[in-house]
Amino acid sequence: MAQAKGYAAQSATASLAPFNFERRALRADDVAIEIDYCGVCHSDIHTAENDWGGSRYPVVPGHEIIGHVTAVGSGVSRFKVGDIVGVGCMVDSCKHCQACNDGLEQYCLNGFVGTYNGVDKVDGTITLGGYSDSIVVHERFVLTIPEALDPSAAAPILCAGITTYSPLKHFGVKAGDKVGVLGMGGLGHMGVKFAKAMGAEVTIFTRSESKVAEAKKQGADHVVISTDPEQMAAVAGTFNYLLDTIPVQHDLNPYLTCLKYDGVHILVGLIEPLEPAVHTANLVMKRRVIAGSLIGGIPETQEVLDFCAEHGISCDVEMLAMQDINEAYQRMKKGDVKYRFVIDMASLKR
Ligand code: NDP
Ligand code: ZN
Ligand code: ZN
Repeated sequence: MAQAKGYAAQSATASLAPFNFERRALRADDVAIEIDYCGVCHSDIHTAENDWGGSRYPVVPGHEIIGHVTAVGSGVSRFKVGDIVGVGCMVDSCKHCQACNDGLEQYCLNGFVGTYNGVDKVDGTITLGGYSDSIVVHERFVLTIPEALDPSAAAPILCAGITTYSPLKHFGVKAGDKVGVLGMGGLGHMGVKFAKAMGAEVTIFTRSESKVAEAKKQGADHVVISTDPEQMAAVAGTFNYLLDTIPVQHDLNPYLTCLKYDGVHILVGLIEPLEPAVHTANLVMKRRVIAGSLIGGIPETQEVLDFCAEHGISCDVEMLAMQDINEAYQRMKKGDVKYRFVIDMASLKR
């Protein structure tokens, strides 16, 4: 066991505060990592505040982890001390079902183990995430960070990146397609970059006039202010795909009508229940599809890291001291971050 320092929420209403705990002793297949950077995902907020139910306190959030290897177990072959590595949203799965064999660990038939708020398959303890100075992870769930990537800016690729890359690829976005990205936050800004790299014509749907100029700088071809009915009506029936990253309940109907026939509305936010009701005519009359997608498997997460290195794609980050995390949550809830907070873990040593 090794002592770890981090930040935890002790209840749904408590602010995050310093928290000392222990990381497990290395198992044969484990990699011990000193964490250098951790991105701040909206799922961290949902879990800390128990938006989805089922949060187990204390919650130490954080699943966009970049660090360096400090020790490896006796059976580890892929990593050595000093390697720059990443850990995303999963730290384990059954590793033998069809989904795991297909490299789709996120859909493990026996359930994956989340990086935080998961239950360790070996000792039953609750997993604690990356808002901390160290973590111990099975080597299968450790990613190699390509040298060409700036480690701090690479952190968000491990969740925001893979979560947007995976569905765009799975649903077959190709050159010339029209893709709309709903919500210009951590996920949304990565979705724009990937859709552009795949050759699509990309439109950002945002509530925020202030993001229009920025959105174009991000590479978006067009911007639609989603609260303006005239702008929404002007793009009716034109999109092949909509990638919906909005983290709160919202009416899907105005967006569905923006899809062409056979268009696909891809949800990545968990916004139960889906209200107001979807009008079936918005689906039936144009053979439209509503789909969902969860992060991406480990091989695909490595693929997107390599894709980013190859295409010169990086995340736009605002560095944060661990001590400022509660203020960062408030700003994220207002959509006030361009576009991902990344915690510099050196701040924990202050
Ligand atoms: P962010 O907070 O970074 O961004 C969300 C964006 O949505 C905001 O920037 C804002 O964009 C828009 N938005 C926020 N509130 C509203 C609102 N009330 N109405 C309309 N639009 C709004 O969140 P993330 O990108 O980190 O996460 C997005 C969602 O994806 C979360 O629910 C998260 O849990 C989920 N998620 C899902 C994963 C999966 O595997 N399926 C993985 C990771 C996250 P703007 O200002 O442009 O309108
Ligand atoms: Zn996330
Ligand atoms: Zn499995």
